[in-house]
Amino acid sequence: MKFRTLLPDELFLGYVGHIRAANFLLPRTRLIDRLGPLRGQREGSVRRSCEFSAVIDHLSLDPLEVVRRHTLVPLTKSVSWEQSEEPRPFGQFVYYRFAMSAAPAGRVCRDCILEDELNGHPPYWRRLHQIAGVNWCGRHMRPLTSTLCNRRLSLGPVKALEDAIDLTREDVDPLMRAPVVTRYLDVVERLLALLDRPLEAAKASWTLRRRAESLGIKLNGKQSLELLIRQVTPGGWLSESFPDSVQRIPSESSWIDRITYSHIRCRPETFALATALLWDDPGEAVEALVLGTVERPNPRCRFPRGCSPEVVGEDGGSHAKPSTQNNLG
Ligand SMILES: [Zn+2]
Repeated sequence: MKFRTLLPDELFLGYVGHIRAANFLLPRTRLIDRLGPLRGQREGSVRRSCEFSAVIDHLSLDPLEVVRRHTLVPLTKSVSWEQSEEPRPFGQFVYYRFAMSAAPAGRVCRDCILEDELNGHPPYWRRLHQIAGVNWCGRHMRPLTSTLCNRRLSLGPVKALEDAIDLTREDVDPLMRAPVVTRYLDVVERLLALLDRPLEAAKASWTLRRRAESLGIKLNGKQSLELLIRQVTPGGWLSESFPDSVQRIPSESSWIDRITYSHIRCRPETFALATALLWDDPGEAVEALVLGTVERPNPRCRFPRGCSPEVVGEDGGSHAKPSTQNNLG
């Protein structure tokens, strides 16, 4: 069988698609059969039917490194609500199906493709471009292109471009100028680089709650953070990137305010967004989230850039303290 090296930040799903395409479009089950039994299993024994296990075992790859560097799992499973045990490292079998099932956005950067070809290797699907909310290439600062074909992972980025839509400068420029959006992307990249297992929901919620309180945000309402985030993110980005943001149940806390209640589950990506909302420095933010740094209400604390508290209406149920001592805004 033909294999090539896994490339930097290459999405593992796309890599497996490339292997199948390079070997006469092998179906998933045939690929698993062709790779032979897992190490330690006898020939002919029933292989755990998982492409992830089959490929990493055949190529002697480290599962933890593959999940951390080549899948969206460190973001989509970045928070754990399991209370009975410590969060398990990302290299364990329980994460393999998430590594192979997360539907990628199928986005590519045309300049990255040109660069790949100039560098003499096949263009590939980059993980960072597949993250919800990422609409431009951070390396080339150009809008991404959304591919539409259902078979794009096997076809590869170049073929997939035959049926694709380019995001426009008009769509993307406002996002690139929005501090909260750029901080969100920074926070996400840092979490992907740093996490080797999920954060505990209780600790992460507590850290974010204390941070909000230190900024003077009253969290007794159900939309405190939602009102803030809606005012500081360009139209359409939230509903496209966080689909649960359009589902409103008036009697319950909003999709983003839930992160301050550790017993309520929500999309783990929402923690990254709330972190970007509440801190000015993404490095400091991620450190606080990961280490659970506790902050006391700080009279000198300033609102992060792009998050002026006056954007929250007086009838919003929650907003920053009006005290001039807080030096907010
Ligand atoms: Zn690029």
